[in-house]
Amino acid sequence: MKKILRQTAYHSSFLHRHHKKRNKNTLTVVSFHRVLPKDNPEWEGADPEWTVTTEFFEECLLFFRKHYSVVGFPEVLENYRGGPSLPDNPLLITFDDGWKCNLQHAAPLLEKLGFPAILFVATGATGKPILSWQEALFALWKSNKLCAQKTNAIAKLAGIAPPGPVVSEAEYHEFLAKLRDRPLDTRNKLNAPLFDWISTLPGLPYMLNRKELLEWQKRGFHLGTHGINHEPMVDMENSHQELHISKHTLSQIAGNEQAISCFSPPHGIYNEDLLETAAKIGYLCACTSRKGLNHTRERSGFIDLGRININQLALMNTRRKLDPSKLASLLFLQPILEQ
Ligand SMILES: [Zn+2]
Repeated sequence: MKKILRQTAYHSSFLHRHHKKRNKNTLTVVSFHRVLPKDNPEWEGADPEWTVTTEFFEECLLFFRKHYSVVGFPEVLENYRGGPSLPDNPLLITFDDGWKCNLQHAAPLLEKLGFPAILFVATGATGKPILSWQEALFALWKSNKLCAQKTNAIAKLAGIAPPGPVVSEAEYHEFLAKLRDRPLDTRNKLNAPLFDWISTLPGLPYMLNRKELLEWQKRGFHLGTHGINHEPMVDMENSHQELHISKHTLSQIAGNEQAISCFSPPHGIYNEDLLETAAKIGYLCACTSRKGLNHTRERSGFIDLGRININQLALMNTRRKLDPSKLASLLFLQPILEQ
């Protein structure tokens, strides 16, 4: 939508009125990853595409308060299973991965507004310095520590040609793509050396540990799984085991097997087979990366919820604040998914 048209549509309340009516009975699910204060030293290793500032996050929450009824995951589940209906224009807030900053910086802002949220945890990364080798590689590159010696050592481990120093963004993405193409067991071997090399970054470890996950839950927030080592589950010979182990591990932390009933596929990569496998294991729901809004009618089978990622870079105005007209056109006009 053109800028002037978009802003006029938002500020004249046209978009709001359209949304109130059209999306009255649709559930909007949004996803966040890292949430950091602007001046936090953790920015040194953080990917701005998957990180928002606390200021921006709070602006999003105020936007949600104005246009939505923020609901918790148990209410969503109850609604689809024939329980009490959701309020008008419901919205569910989700976080992926299990970053420590969610508890440190996002939880207090959510609590201030009385908003629930669900966090999807990569259970193999709990208490680790960073989520996986990919985030570690990015952190090294961003902090100018990805020298030729390190890239060549990683390339040797992965069985690809040594790239030499990786300096530009294009070189970084080329190197990352080559590593992503390697088999799963090779990719898993990259974690240890990369985690080791980022040990000088400020604020480590970045991932929530077991005690902190329990605190997240005690403060009234909810938990779901996000695989073990954050690798795409469709690449795995035994996705059944991945789904089962992550559910079991998190259930032990949460102290309740029934409490863990939803998962988010790592990297948003999934297929029908994966959802079927999840259903057989006892999951009731998945929050995927399928873009769109979800009808709120009762469902008999597995609940597959579409979700919209909140990318700060795409939603800021020139003063680096949230442009509400951009967020409104991102969220209000999404297609309504049939299943
Ligand atoms: Zn993730």
